[in-house]
Amino acid sequence: MAQDSEAGNLFSVGQRAMAAMQAHGIEPTPENYLVWFTHFAGENPALSRLIRLLEDNNDGFDAERCQELYQRFFVRDDAARVVHEASSRVEDLLSSLVKQLTAQREESEAASDRIDALGTIIGKDGRSETLAKIALALRNETRRMAKNARELGKELRASSNQVAILRASLERVRREAETDPLTGLANRKTFEAALRRLAAEAVEKGTPLSLVVVDIDHFKRFNDTFGHRTGDVVLKLMASRLRNSVRERDIAARYGGEEFVLLLPSTDLDTAVERAESIRADVASHRLRARGSGKDLGVVTLSMGVAEYRPGEPLSEFFERADQALYLAKQQGRNRVVDERALAKTDPATSAGDAMQDCAPAPA
Ligand code: GH3
Ligand code: MG
Ligand code: MG
Repeated sequence: MAQDSEAGNLFSVGQRAMAAMQAHGIEPTPENYLVWFTHFAGENPALSRLIRLLEDNNDGFDAERCQELYQRFFVRDDAARVVHEASSRVEDLLSSLVKQLTAQREESEAASDRIDALGTIIGKDGRSETLAKIALALRNETRRMAKNARELGKELRASSNQVAILRASLERVRREAETDPLTGLANRKTFEAALRRLAAEAVEKGTPLSLVVVDIDHFKRFNDTFGHRTGDVVLKLMASRLRNSVRERDIAARYGGEEFVLLLPSTDLDTAVERAESIRADVASHRLRARGSGKDLGVVTLSMGVAEYRPGEPLSEFFERADQALYLAKQQGRNRVVDERALAKTDPATSAGDAMQDCAPAPA
């Protein structure tokens, strides 16, 4: 029973949120929905105070204001999750209410049929005019109830469709937030979350986890020679090579600029080096041609650094080792794979960060 009233209450909060957005001419995006749902649910008094103030001022409550409220009260890392939970809760409620109403309508229709039959018998009997009138009135009443239930059901179905649309658009927002728009690979934030998750899993299961940091060689020079747009095409091409080289549970991500990462669960250092080497060799063996003009763009090469996770170490140290191995690969002439074992052999004074300076391309 308590659940029913909670359901009804949340349902009416959802309805009021939808109605308010409609009244203010505000699009029912997940963000706007979250603002109004929270307001009517009374979950955030400061937000409600501000909404009432804005409404009282009567100077037009528009989409821009709503966006400001969203930014101010909800912009956090997990906002998407919060909206998702809110809308999925309302969607469930709506569908359960639709079911209840359908049952109620069917019952009213059946009752109306039975009363109808009863009225006919009483009518035939011809003795009780009053009873016949009562039967007629009852029948009309039950028909009216069935009709109401039917109409309410229709409205609910429409609302539930709206919420389903809302969820779909939320899924899109979430996917976009996790993806690098140029290459379609996971972005840095998604990679970092995956790194935390897979490192914890590696500790728990006692399985190896390896990381490959990949950097395109002399990419600035490539851009300077062939233009940024052609550079973008090469980035997409490299991304698709990486995507095609990973297994289902691996993560291939664009870490930034012309730098990518591969996170390889259940993979030890030697295997990770082998896989990195095969990608490097494949990329280095193809000359690139411009799609339209067929112009020869030469060979683009990759340098890579590989490290294996040491259970329990800080993730920054794990990443740093792969990154330092990459710097070493640059220093040793590029177009190569270097793993963390090479770091121990180098003099710390000349390794990594400093080395990067030494081998930066000469200014054009
Ligand atoms: P190194 O071999 O030492 O890595 O040299 P590099 O030129 O690749 O490295 P540097 O860090 O000097 O330059 C990276 C270049 O990558 C500079 C920048 O213009 C280019 N770049 C970064 N992001 C993009 C992008 O989204 N599109 C294009 N076309 N170029 C990008
Ligand atoms: Mg580079
Ligand atoms: Mg770089």
